[in-house]
Amino acid sequence: MIDIHAHLCFGDYDKDLDEVIAKCKEELAGVIVGTARYEEGMKALSTVSKHPGFLFPTLGFHPTEGGKDPEKIMELIKSNSGKIVGVGEVGLDYHWEKDQEKQRIQKERFSKFIELAEKLSKPLVIHSWDAESECFEMVKNSKVKVIFHCFSGRRELAKEIVSRGFYISISTQVLFSKNIRKIAKDMPLDKLLLETDSPFLSPDKEKDPRNYPWNIKLSAEKIAEIKNISKEEILEKAKENAIRVFDLKIARA
Ligand SMILES: [Zn+2]
Repeated sequence: MIDIHAHLCFGDYDKDLDEVIAKCKEELAGVIVGTARYEEGMKALSTVSKHPGFLFPTLGFHPTEGGKDPEKIMELIKSNSGKIVGVGEVGLDYHWEKDQEKQRIQKERFSKFIELAEKLSKPLVIHSWDAESECFEMVKNSKVKVIFHCFSGRRELAKEIVSRGFYISISTQVLFSKNIRKIAKDMPLDKLLLETDSPFLSPDKEKDPRNYPWNIKLSAEKIAEIKNISKEEILEKAKENAIRVFDLKIARA
């Protein structure tokens, strides 16, 4: 199995990152290490270099928490374009940003990252909280592969995104959100991608506030139930799709 979006380079794992990665290796074929800040991106580049064929980085800029210097991250992306498997997460966040002028700045920055992904022919991993249709409007004519990470928008929009040939990555939210379960139900198997967005979205916050990449198997169980097929088939399809979409050179597929 493959988790296509985990922030393993978040401070939450500073103390035991090696153990977490070792456990990932017992259970998964690969993990895409998503990033959204400069320091996180730097740490991801050095961490993944120690685990070739298993950890794969994407470099991005969070619309509200990415810092003040998106240009610096764009430079980092350009100078590491051979090492990364995607640009992201990047996008719009109108959940935390209600100010229209600041939303306009988010759009301006996002459009530069879209252009960069196009120039480098890299998949674009999108953060779209409460701005799902605005994000879709901005990318719908793009030629790059587009993945809406942790999508929590409307079911109808999800259908439109998928019929446009884009991807919606199903997070561990599927364990607690009815809306995400409906979206998962509609999702054709050849479009299915799974992610945890670790350390966020822990399936059981009281037991452990952190999430881990191997928890995609819990999502797969839930989706298997909804779609009435086996958990193994869900995990296998999601893995095949991840390898194809991100062109992953998996060491132990
Ligand atoms: Zn994320």
